[in-house]
Amino acid sequence: MSLLASNNRKERIQRLQADSFDVLVIGGGITGAGIALDAASRGMKVALVEMRDFASGTSSKSTKLIHGGLRYLKQLEIALVREVGSERAIVHRIAPHLVTAEKMLLPLIQGGTYGRLATSLGLMVYDFLAGVSLQDRRRMLSREETIAEEPLLRDDIITGGGLYAEYRTDDARLTIEIIKTAIAYGALPVNYVQAADFVYQNNRIKGVQCLDLLTNSHFEIRATYVVSAAGPWVDQLRQADRSQQGKRLFHSKGVHLVVPHKRLPLKNAVYFDIPNDGRMMFAIPRHRVTYLGTTDTPYDGDLNQIPITRADVEYILTATNKMFPNAQLSLSDVESSWAGLRPLIFEEGKTASEMSRKDELFESASGLISIAGGKLTGYRKMAERVVDLVAAKLSKEHSRYFQGCRTDTIALSGGPFQDAKDVNTFKQLIAERLHSLGLSNYYADYLVANYGRAATTILDSMSVQSTPEIALAQSEAQYCLDEELACKALDFFNRRSGRLYFHIQSIEPVLDSVLITFQQYLNWDASRVAQEREEVVAALREVIDFQ
Ligand code: FAD
Repeated sequence: MSLLASNNRKERIQRLQADSFDVLVIGGGITGAGIALDAASRGMKVALVEMRDFASGTSSKSTKLIHGGLRYLKQLEIALVREVGSERAIVHRIAPHLVTAEKMLLPLIQGGTYGRLATSLGLMVYDFLAGVSLQDRRRMLSREETIAEEPLLRDDIITGGGLYAEYRTDDARLTIEIIKTAIAYGALPVNYVQAADFVYQNNRIKGVQCLDLLTNSHFEIRATYVVSAAGPWVDQLRQADRSQQGKRLFHSKGVHLVVPHKRLPLKNAVYFDIPNDGRMMFAIPRHRVTYLGTTDTPYDGDLNQIPITRADVEYILTATNKMFPNAQLSLSDVESSWAGLRPLIFEEGKTASEMSRKDELFESASGLISIAGGKLTGYRKMAERVVDLVAAKLSKEHSRYFQGCRTDTIALSGGPFQDAKDVNTFKQLIAERLHSLGLSNYYADYLVANYGRAATTILDSMSVQSTPEIALAQSEAQYCLDEELACKALDFFNRRSGRLYFHIQSIEPVLDSVLITFQQYLNWDASRVAQEREEVVAALREVIDFQ
């Protein structure tokens, strides 16, 4: 039985019920995925439940940078900068097709956040802490060089700039590749299963009562330790365990907008001061689009439905227009968007932007281990800390011994690739095949960044009966059903392929064909197909519907 195939979900749930696990992880975002891989690769028996799709929480709503966190340098969080800095080198090494080097331009403006000397020194320290190679180290630019680099920048306030190394990724793909790698090491993750309640024995948690949201049925999973990696929902689970004392979460909303690249044709990612605002924002070119963000505002609404308001949109567009005035972006340019919640640890007297992005571990009297805060970039180290704790408990309380963390040497699913050069050689081969299939070069980057070496499988399986675009989408969907635990059409259009954010126009022409692929594979009846269709149509509406 392939543990990656969506059509054997029933058998996987039967195994979850029948077995007993060393550790049960609640939450299939980057944090939970990282913990599952770390624990499984040390030899532990691991289960994971995710109440919606993998990465459907914050882990598909970030700025999608694997970064050393320049802003933390300003807040003098040196240890955090060092850790995430060295981590980005590791994450690039284990998934070079998915974590790619990107130049970031930091324009300096009169009265801005960073002065020239401080920027030069800061970026030097940043390179040093992050172990950046000699040829990628920061380069300080004159005013003229900065404007030549990005001619759309507002030239009356620019005094110079710094060009430095960052990495770009797709957060949802990274999460899914980690889940798949964890499965290869024996972990048993399942999506659309909610941890509804805890099961206790002598006041200690011994498992979780689960609700299968696709069949509306309940079942129990037994585990020696339960780890909550539920991101913004961590406090809800601590409340269910009646163990929420001391520190608590603070939710900060972050919004991103997507505009066509031709409306803001940047060469580099730009991290810019919003004039007269005091905050900074990113503008990140990504193939056919540029995305902009983010906001950082307190949020206490529904965690499952995070609205993007007109005020959020206006703030981002106004900020961008202040720095790139000739772009004259307006609401009608926005073709997609997303909003996510940062699960921050509350600090009295600080604003959302000022609160630390550090992660924190909580352990309750009942044995529930919760982890919250942190960054996408630091997921591996967060996982290591949690699994070290679980391993210490297993050895102390159960005389079971496990080796140390080794996820820094485990190539993620989608690879292996030796390095970025190896990725480019492979991409070239894919580009040649796309040409012969009548598909544009755009899909070479798209397929390799999303599916890595599996791009070959996808092209091999394309039907010759449809248009190339439809055949490609159906073949991708088939792959996501066979190998990526996709259960719903939106799992494919959003978390697996990123089309909802980065190529929204490509969805409507292939939607009916993709639904047929899902229907045949999962034996859907007509009403289920209609429901899935409506969910995709609603998502297409929601990403441009601002309240
Ligand atoms: P989540 O991804 O939210 O995962 C938690 C999961 O738990 C969810 O999928 C949820 O459905 C599930 N869950 C909850 N309750 C239950 C339950 N009872 N049963 C089963 N499942 C449950 N970091 C970076 O390194 N780089 C960036 O560029 C960056 N940009 C960011 C920009 C924004 C706007 C935001 C909001 C964050 C950004 N971050 C960035 C931070 C990063 O995205 C988060 O730290 C990270 O994604 C959190 O992952 P997580 O797994 O802890 O939470």
